[in-house]
Amino acid sequence: MKHFFLRQPSSSPATHRGLSTALLVISSVFASHAQPVTPAATLLRPAAVFDGQDRHEGWAVLVENNKISAVGPAAQVTAPAGTRTLELPGLTLLPGLIEGHSHLLLHPYNETSWNDQVLLESQALRVARATAHAQRTLLAGFTTARDLGTEGAGYADVGLKQAIDQGIIPGPRLLVATRALVATGSYGPKLSVDEDVPQGAQEADGVDGIIRAVREQMGKGADLIKVYADYRWGADGSTQTTFSQDELNLIVQTARSAGRGVVAHASTPEGMRRAILAGVETIEHGDGGTPEIFELMKKRGMALCPTVAAGDATAQYKGWRKGTDPVPARIQQKHVSMAAAVKAGVPFAMGGDVGVFTHGDNAREMELLVRDYGFTPLLVLRQATSGNARIFHLADRGRLAPGLLADLVAVAGDPTQDVAALRQIRLVMKGGVLYRQP
Ligand SMILES: [Zn+2]
Repeated sequence: MKHFFLRQPSSSPATHRGLSTALLVISSVFASHAQPVTPAATLLRPAAVFDGQDRHEGWAVLVENNKISAVGPAAQVTAPAGTRTLELPGLTLLPGLIEGHSHLLLHPYNETSWNDQVLLESQALRVARATAHAQRTLLAGFTTARDLGTEGAGYADVGLKQAIDQGIIPGPRLLVATRALVATGSYGPKLSVDEDVPQGAQEADGVDGIIRAVREQMGKGADLIKVYADYRWGADGSTQTTFSQDELNLIVQTARSAGRGVVAHASTPEGMRRAILAGVETIEHGDGGTPEIFELMKKRGMALCPTVAAGDATAQYKGWRKGTDPVPARIQQKHVSMAAAVKAGVPFAMGGDVGVFTHGDNAREMELLVRDYGFTPLLVLRQATSGNARIFHLADRGRLAPGLLADLVAVAGDPTQDVAALRQIRLVMKGGVLYRQP
C-alpha cells in the first residue's frame, strides 16, 4: 500500500478536493435513504428500575439506537412514534453487570489443571472455548468484563475483543490485559529445571526489559497492564514478593505515560504495599492484607478486587466439603482480611476470577459476598454496576441515565433485596441489541 501511494505523486490537490466533494454527496444521498423513517427506539417497562444506585418502582427506560435516552417515572418517559414497547412485569431492570476479574481463556481447574491448559491445549482450542465463555458471560447479564490475562494464550484476548466488537460472536465489552507481567523465575508452569517451558505470563526484569515488555503489550492492544507483585515461589512454596519497588514504579510510569492503568495481583502485605506505593489502580485478591495495608489503600483511594469465589472454588477442588468440613485456614484468613478491608473503608471492585470456576457463573462472587462475608445485596449490586464503572474509568456505563450505553439486564424479583435474583436473568441488551428477552 505504501508503495502504491508513493507512486502517485502527480494527483493534484484540486483532484483530491473534487473527489472528496463527490464522496460527500454520495454519502449524504446514502445517509438520507438509509435512515429508517422511525427511530430505532425501545421502551422498557419493568416493575422497577435499579439505576446503579437505588431501586425505583414504576420507572421506565427509553432506548434509542445504542444509547439510553430517558429514565424515570413511566408517566414522564415519552416515547417517539413507532417505538417498540417491552412490557416486563415482575422484573427489575438494571445496568448491565460488570465483571471485574475474568480469564476468558481459562476453564475450571477441576476440568483441566492450569498447567495442562497452558502447556497442552492449543491456542485454537483455547480460543474456540473462549468464544463460548464470552457468550455465556453475556447471557448471564455481564455486558462488560475486565479480562486479566490470557495465561499463556498470548494476545488471543485482543482478537476475541475485536470479534465481539465487530459482531462476529456475542460477548461482553472487554478490557484486556493481554499477557500480564511476571518476574523471571517466579511464575509457572514449572517442570524439570532442565526444561524452559512456555510461561503463563510474560517474564520481564530491570529497566530495559520492563519498559520494552509494557510497551510491547500496549502496542499489541492491552487496555491495561497486569503485574504479579508476588507469587508462590518461596523456597518452601510460600508466597513471596517478585518485582522490586523500582520495577513496579517503572511499570506504572510506563503504562501511565501511555494512558493505561496497572492492576496488581498481590496477596502478601509487602507485595500489596509495593504495588500500592507504585500507584496501581486495583489490588487483585489481597488475601493477606493487614489493617495497616488497607489503611494505606483507603488513603490512596485504591480498590480491592477480592475474588472470594476463586479461593472458595480452589479450596473445594482440593477436597474441602463446604458446609461439612471445618473451614480451611486459607479461607479463615480471607475472612480476617476482608473484615479489615471493610473496617478501613477500602472501595471494593466486584470480580470473582471467573475461569477458575465456570464462565457464566459470574454471580457466584456476589452470592458469596452476601452469604459468607455479610455484604448486603444492594452493596454488591452497586459494586458490580456503578462502582466497577467508576473504578475502571468507564463513564459511559454502569448506571441508567440519558446518554449512557444501552447495556441493560432484567431479572425476576428484586436483586437489591435478594442476591439470588441475579440467577433469574430474563433480558440482556448490549448497545441497544437484545441478546436475550422474555
Ligand atoms: Zn486471575
